Amino acid sequence: MEVAIQPRSVENVVSRGKVCIIAKLLSERYVGKEIIRRQLIKGWRPTGHLSFKVIGENLFLVEFEKEWDKVRVLEGRPWIFEGILFSVEDFDGLSSPSDIVFDQAVFWVRMFNLPLACMGKEVGFQIGATMGTVEEVDTDEDGVGWGEYLRVRIRIDVKKPLARGRVINLLGKQVLIGFRYEKLPKYCFDCGKIWHGREGCTIRGGYRVKESEKQYGPWLRVPSLRRQKEYQQSHHSAWHDEELGGVKKFLEGEVLARAVASFQTEVVKRRRLRRKIQAIRIFR
Ligand SMILES: [Zn+2]
Repeated sequence: MEVAIQPRSVENVVSRGKVCIIAKLLSERYVGKEIIRRQLIKGWRPTGHLSFKVIGENLFLVEFEKEWDKVRVLEGRPWIFEGILFSVEDFDGLSSPSDIVFDQAVFWVRMFNLPLACMGKEVGFQIGATMGTVEEVDTDEDGVGWGEYLRVRIRIDVKKPLARGRVINLLGKQVLIGFRYEKLPKYCFDCGKIWHGREGCTIRGGYRVKESEKQYGPWLRVPSLRRQKEYQQSHHSAWHDEELGGVKKFLEGEVLARAVASFQTEVVKRRRLRRKIQAIRIFR
């Protein structure tokens, strides 16, 4: 028998749903509600009260007192809890929590090695569309985004291997574009997925990939500010070598060799410049 629900009877609940989000910790590990709640309040710093309810396995309904806090949390995505992706989705109160899909997440992707002519809104959208749905390209008002890299905000499928780069063709010339992700959670260096789901890692029938054959690594992640500072303060070049190793791995062929060579010169140039700067400081 079907029970018809009158709009009047859900009005109240739906209006409360306007200040709610549904969140899922993408992990097979059970984490206590209190631990998550404490960590999230620390990270979100809501200006109003926040109520937190468990509605499934690692699945939560969060109700904010102030709509502004909800907007901030949605805009501040992705949220990471102890290195694990905490997927947050808007909730209208009308759909069932089981209908909400959590296998997507929004990331700021940095695209390196783009020719200056390509550092703009349109190319950002074009390359980003091959990875997922582009939400935003970080540019000036006129659509130009010159800088060390082009920043593109993309909604991607976390059950697919992360894209490491693309080869673009500009007027007949191939250029290798490398990606790095801001706030990238822990992910599988064997298959490149952020979340396997219940089935676990299926690459090579469950066997681990040899260290030397891994196609993924920490280099896909934009290092935290602290780590960058530590790097700048020391002469140690591990960070760049690691990065270079990563770039080397993500595509093969002549295009790659050329890109690595130019990247290498770039690294050497930067190192020389840094040494010069340090020398100047010493002479002062
Ligand atoms: Zn895997």
